[in-house]
Amino acid sequence: MINIQNIPEFKKAIPLIDKIEQAGYEAYFVGGGVRDTLLHLPISDVDIASSAVPDEIQRIFPITFDVGIKHGTVMVLHEKMTYEITTFRTESKYEKFRRPESVHYVRRLDEDLKRRDFTINAIALNRDGMLEDPFDGQEDIEKKLIRAVGNPMERFREDALRMMRAARFISQLGFDVEEETKQAVKDYHPLLSKIAVERIRDEWAKLLVGRNRKGGIKFFVETRLFQVCPGLQNREESLIDLALFPVQFQSQLIAWTILLYFLDIREEKVESFLKDWKLSNKEIRDIKKAYLALHHRLKKSWDHHILFDTGIEIALEVEEMVNGFGMVADVNQLLSLHKTMPIYTTRDIETNGKDVMEILETRKGGPHLGVILEDVKTNILAGKLKNNQAEIKAYIMRRKSIYMDEIQIDEYVVKKEHTAAFLGSGELDVLASPALIAFMENSCKEMLKKLVLPEETSVGTFISLEHRAPSAVGAKIKIEIKTKELHRNKYSFSLVAKENDQLIAIGEHTRSVVNREKFMDKLL
Ligand code: ATP
Ligand code: MG
Repeated sequence: MINIQNIPEFKKAIPLIDKIEQAGYEAYFVGGGVRDTLLHLPISDVDIASSAVPDEIQRIFPITFDVGIKHGTVMVLHEKMTYEITTFRTESKYEKFRRPESVHYVRRLDEDLKRRDFTINAIALNRDGMLEDPFDGQEDIEKKLIRAVGNPMERFREDALRMMRAARFISQLGFDVEEETKQAVKDYHPLLSKIAVERIRDEWAKLLVGRNRKGGIKFFVETRLFQVCPGLQNREESLIDLALFPVQFQSQLIAWTILLYFLDIREEKVESFLKDWKLSNKEIRDIKKAYLALHHRLKKSWDHHILFDTGIEIALEVEEMVNGFGMVADVNQLLSLHKTMPIYTTRDIETNGKDVMEILETRKGGPHLGVILEDVKTNILAGKLKNNQAEIKAYIMRRKSIYMDEIQIDEYVVKKEHTAAFLGSGELDVLASPALIAFMENSCKEMLKKLVLPEETSVGTFISLEHRAPSAVGAKIKIEIKTKELHRNKYSFSLVAKENDQLIAIGEHTRSVVNREKFMDKLL
């Protein structure tokens, strides 16, 4: 006997039961709501079972939604809450170990309870608080046992998803599985492969966030259910690591992220792994962000770049998880760092693609604009560029030749001191290769001067030269330079030297940007 008046979720739904009864049918509370009430847990949803068939329910309630009429379920809206009312039915013709396409309605409650998965889920509660418990579900609740209703082997052959539900309830409720039921899962685990991945996924995700994840995964591994789940074949050891992770997952997002972590899925494989689990594109996007952020956070602290890419909501969830890796989560520090971000989204940048086209005097749209905006964004986040229109404009102007892949030209006149004879690298009075190298390096250094900060300079790290023709004193040498930014602190240059438009040399050069003082300090 339960005092319904004390349970607001049920109390609110009594008028629905009354209406069905007044129309001459039976109706009961069933499923997880009844089970959770007996466990003194909060109720997640109120399911109602009734002898009225869907047509009759639709006649009783003027506003209904068809959520699964095929399976006998109609959704009813009542005082801003929705309730699923499912017609009493049996488990007659199961095809290929899956839920049947059509169902067989019955008019008796006990017939309906018989088709339910576990004894703890096969208890009905009437409007006066009387329990109907033909399979002693209350006793199993006392004993914390998950026991199939009837013959477990038959029940799992009818619907193989129930095996996965058993694993989920272990984790969610902290229960054990009764021996015969467990043996049947061991014997029949391959049947799970007949079930739609979406249904398996929903149970798996609930298992992962449950308070007894360890027990749930242990069962999942021992019964070999994992062998028929996407991407988990032969990953027993990783699953055990996941089971032993010491912090409860607060969300499914985090659960998937840590699962990826223990499976050690490579970044480029994440998408296909999650797609195999039939997660939505949005879920996949978010989990990817969290996964990248987790890897970052386990190596170093948050910075504006990774926080920008991750977003604060996901970052907070990731931060909560680091406790489980033997680190100390510092949510407050993360929040203060977030407050100091110069920009939060690309929309916050005081320049857009159209502005960039204007600044560069180009009409060419397309992907390179994205590259430029990305560069601007990176520098704003690094604190190297202020987010204001004038500064961004100047920055883009300075880099125009790089962005536009332009050739820059510099000129030198060969003097006596540039000759091989003078420098000792040869005997003749012709332009020495080391001097030509110096011209080239000098031009590249000058180019970079516009791009680096005042406290920075650049140093050559590689140069190669193919000197093809001699030049005499007095010759005018033209150097053509194409610059490529490898990353913010490293540039490569393709070089061509010409005399009177005749090619005399080609070369490759790279330079690194360094902080003057730090660079010299290292030498002293
Ligand atoms: P939750 O708290 O997650 O809602 P629940 O037990 O209510 O748990 P539901 O999926 O809402 O789970 O199902 C409601 C009820 O329907 C279950 O309690 C059970 O009686 C029955 N049921 C659900 N799925 C199955 C199934 N595959 N086989 C047999 N009965 C099932
Ligand atoms: Mg439910």
